[in-house]
Amino acid sequence: MTARILIVDDVDVNVRLLEAKLTLEYYDVLTCNDGLTALSIAASERPDIILLDVMMPGMDGFETCRRLKADPVTSHIPVVLVTALDGREDKIRGLEAGADDFVTKPIDDLVLFARVRSLVRLKAVMDELREREENGRRMGVDTAGAARLRGAGGRVLIVDDNQPQAQRIAEQLALDHRPVIEPDLENAVIAAQGPVDLIIVNVSSSGFDGLRLVAQVRSKETSRRAPILAVVDPSDRPRLVKALELGANDILSRPVDAEELAARARTQIRRKRYTDFLRQKLDYSLEMAVTDALTGLHNRRYMTSQLEALVNRAGTGDDAVAVLLLDIDHFKAVNDGFGHDAGDEVLREFAVRLATNVRAIDLPCRYGGEEFVVVMPGTSLEDAGMIAERIRRDVASAPFRIMEGQEHLTITISVGVAASLGGDDTPDALIKRADEGVYEAKARGRNKVISRAA
Ligand code: GH3
Ligand code: MG
Ligand code: MG
Repeated sequence: MTARILIVDDVDVNVRLLEAKLTLEYYDVLTCNDGLTALSIAASERPDIILLDVMMPGMDGFETCRRLKADPVTSHIPVVLVTALDGREDKIRGLEAGADDFVTKPIDDLVLFARVRSLVRLKAVMDELREREENGRRMGVDTAGAARLRGAGGRVLIVDDNQPQAQRIAEQLALDHRPVIEPDLENAVIAAQGPVDLIIVNVSSSGFDGLRLVAQVRSKETSRRAPILAVVDPSDRPRLVKALELGANDILSRPVDAEELAARARTQIRRKRYTDFLRQKLDYSLEMAVTDALTGLHNRRYMTSQLEALVNRAGTGDDAVAVLLLDIDHFKAVNDGFGHDAGDEVLREFAVRLATNVRAIDLPCRYGGEEFVVVMPGTSLEDAGMIAERIRRDVASAPFRIMEGQEHLTITISVGVAASLGGDDTPDALIKRADEGVYEAKARGRNKVISRAA
């Protein structure tokens, strides 16, 4: 996966060096030498990652990072701080400024590429979710609430057979989170399937293979989205690189520094909650997009898309598809006589009777107002007519109890039936034949089923 990377460093030699390395790896590289220019390039070019030198005259890397993170246009772009010092203070200041990662000079190519790859993957997911959320908002789905998401109170699974180290990490995290220690690998894989906000795994242990846990967590559907922090010995470079390749989100060097642990855990948990939140909103907005709010049946839009596919398939001669169009008789009289709410109650009750009278593979939908459609895959005109008759009888034979049982209304429906065996039949033509059936049923006195052959 390629990406566009902005390199910011006041020393031109450093810029050229990094540019050469990243260009060789087929990244698209932009460069500049100061913080202010970086802000404007970030806003106009929207790079996927920013590699930002800490020590720069004028606006330093911390301030540049803070401003990037404060601007909604650039706040989602991962920032990797490039620091000459391996100083703890720098890392903490950087994390406080919102940096997503660090690399230290002299830059280790393998580590750099692995981190860039991992951040590019993450950014791709976030971009997609942001876009979908944007669509959801356009459809009128409430997306407020993301801002309230915090990185505290996380469920953290610590997988480590080094007991003193695990204990220390747990104690430090317990200030803000709910840590659990699991020294056994098999059990940890199982625990990771549960509700977990962050997994911290020792991948430099001689006693067990932490890398295997990373691989297994990533490969399982129920755990593959859990963020993973890999604890690694600084001298153990191959494992560090492998951990990132397998999908660890971030690295903690041993001995684990309390402040850095807290900051990296918070960043990961916050990000996890953000993506979870967007995903939930996405599920919700997708459901709203295909569901009729009053009855809970599928809506017309969804029905149309399904029918299209079925009619096209029928066109290949495989299968017939039938539709029922059902229209409540004299429904206006219900509204006029008992009020709009009573009318709504009738529609809801009708939806229940409709849904319970068709097969699981049939698709009952609210077509609009007091009109409903049932799409029936693999059903002949004759069979569809029998099912329609059964629904008609079920509706007419037992009164609808509305207004908390105070009123009993006898409701009847007129039903048109049509079926398609393909050829050059279209969904519109099919619905139109069913509609002609309804029209005829109304004309012949209502409470009737009329089938229309093609
Ligand atoms: P017909 O037997 O010819 O079908 O007569 P009808 O009264 O059922 O048909 P008409 O199309 O004249 O009236 C449909 C009514 O359905 C008019 C409209 O106000 C009402 N309606 C449409 N949607 C809703 C709704 O969501 N809730 C309620 N309560 N009424 C609705
Ligand atoms: Mg009508
Ligand atoms: Mg009607």
